[in-house]
Amino acid sequence: MPQTTAADVIIIGAGIAGIATAHYLTCKEPARKVVLVDALLPMSLTSAQSGENYRNWWPHQVMTDFIDRSIDLLEGIAGDSSNRINLTHRGYALATRQDDISELINGLHTGYGTNAADLIRIRDGRDAASYLASLSEKHTGVDVITDPGTIRRAFPAFDPEIRRVIHIRRAGDLDSYQLTIAGAKCIAAEADIRGCAGGHTEGATVCGGSRSTAHRLVRGRARPACR
Ligand SMILES: Cc1cc2nc3c(=O)[nH]c(=O)nc-3n(C[C@H](O)[C@H](O)[C@H](O)COP(=O)(O)OP(=O)(O)OC[C@H]3O[C@@H](n4cnc5c(N)ncnc54)[C@H](O)[C@@H]3O)c2cc1C
Repeated sequence: MPQTTAADVIIIGAGIAGIATAHYLTCKEPARKVVLVDALLPMSLTSAQSGENYRNWWPHQVMTDFIDRSIDLLEGIAGDSSNRINLTHRGYALATRQDDISELINGLHTGYGTNAADLIRIRDGRDAASYLASLSEKHTGVDVITDPGTIRRAFPAFDPEIRRVIHIRRAGDLDSYQLTIAGAKCIAAEADIRGCAGGHTEGATVCGGSRSTAHRLVRGRARPACR
């Protein structure tokens, strides 16, 4: 039997983008009725493939600023949840056997834009000690390591032929499953799973705990026009 649901917002897709959108809409403005629709199980398509890494290096400053804002939000969630999402700050290292990385450095300048001069540190070996000492600390910007000896000491598992390393410092990894659970906190307080013929789950009705607002996670494919 087709069911009708009134909603203020319908989000198509329960991947990380849809769940994050639903999270902020329901947490920030709980009076809104939000319906999250997916043809598949939540987090089962592209979001299931993620390497669960993050980094604030992108080829345009707008993207870098956007990601910085996202990392601020992730750090907020980590802080509020005793780091349930296992957010690390160990950085993201790009390694190459090439000596000439001027193109990559130009790309770093484009990505960090007006802040680039402050954020890009060339480590040619003279300040190896300060770079090695900083590895356990939380940092911004990027260390460009051009000294093979420093690379050997900082990254002993790398192939000895690696000549240059770009170590993005506002980067690391996280547990996206736990992030989804944290994100679903406001969406799902109680779930009523409905089965359909054949034993497949047809949908999940999710109610907002003590709030009377109903939020729903619905299995279904969104089409341009309803039949
Ligand atoms: C191999 C790989 C590794 C990656 N590693 C990283 C990484 O380390 N770090 C990182 O930040 N990013 C990474 N990414 C990118 C990241 O995974 C994606 O950017 C992100 O998962 C996209 O999320 P999404 O919610 O937009 O899309 P999806 O997870 O694909 O969700 C979209 C959902 O919409 C549903 N849908 C679509 N159309 C309809 C419709 N008409 N009706 C109903 N439902 C519909 C789909 O079923 C799906 O569940 C990686 C990607 C890949 C492929």
